[in-house]
Amino acid sequence: MPINYSDHQLKLSLKSSKVLVVDDQLLSLIVLKKILSEHFSVTTTSCGEDAIEICKHNPPDIILLDINMEGMSGIETCLKLKNISETQDIPVIFVTSSENQEEECWEAGAVDFIKKPTNSETLYRRVRAHITMKLQHDLLNQKVFLDDLTKVFNRRYFDAHFSKMERSALREKVDYALLLIDIDYFKQYNDLYGHVQGDTVLNLVAQTITNSLQRPTDFVARYGGEEFVVVLPHTSTEGAICVADKIKQNVVDLGILHRYSEYDFVTISIGGATLQPYVNNKNTLQIADEKMYESKMQGRNQVCF
Ligand code: GH3
Ligand code: MG
Ligand code: MG
Repeated sequence: MPINYSDHQLKLSLKSSKVLVVDDQLLSLIVLKKILSEHFSVTTTSCGEDAIEICKHNPPDIILLDINMEGMSGIETCLKLKNISETQDIPVIFVTSSENQEEECWEAGAVDFIKKPTNSETLYRRVRAHITMKLQHDLLNQKVFLDDLTKVFNRRYFDAHFSKMERSALREKVDYALLLIDIDYFKQYNDLYGHVQGDTVLNLVAQTITNSLQRPTDFVARYGGEEFVVVLPHTSTEGAICVADKIKQNVVDLGILHRYSEYDFVTISIGGATLQPYVNNKNTLQIADEKMYESKMQGRNQVCF
């Protein structure tokens, strides 16, 4: 069955879509921003290095990229973006007056190529067409990669993205953190309060974890029955411990009564690990799992790293 937006949904989604325009000529930036901000939410920057940082921390739905820029060129910027797991799926359109670099642009991974000076209607229609495709693609991914019960990502999503992200973190020599979260005494909870109430708790815990994350590149997936995994890119051990403590406390603060727990409320145990690529090359998932087990052994409702 095809998955489609209604016209109304599509209009709303297009209006809030994020476009990043990268050009080192102020006049170009002003012109492109003027045309596109009538229809989309537009951010601009004049250099490739900044564009990469913006994409890592607040990924746009599409990038319009100039080729010839001071410092990192558009082609180099595009190649870098295609090499980073969090940014590689963002479509890139080159907008340039350069005559003979079209092939290089396609090779670098562009989805389109628009010649300057641009016709404003053509520019808008082409950007709109690419964003529509991107939104449809995101929607399809949501259907395939979301857990039916909790609406957070499912195990399939985690498996598909985790190894990609790990490879990219190793290549870029950056850190990332992983948290494994398991609800305490959940079998007893189901036995005492019933499966329907158990499902409600799973949902509440999933939403609480989601709401405790701050960066758009952080994500949570349901790893198994009552287990969740949180991925925190570009995060050190100290940062990850802060996030884990906050999640643990936010779950306690839900105040869900659990008569079979010594804490009287539903709690979670968390095990964490960071990649630290230069220090150790052990599997972070395995370490996080061992640490989660330690949390359980030391009395539950705690974080171990
Ligand atoms: P521990 O504190 O050591 O984690 O004990 P536990 O009881 O939480 O762990 P155990 O692995 O023994 O049991 C997990 C339970 O989670 C089993 C099952 O009843 C429950 N569970 C798993 N998936 C679901 C689900 O989708 N819905 C509901 N309601 N319960 C689930
Ligand atoms: Mg479990
Ligand atoms: Mg459990």
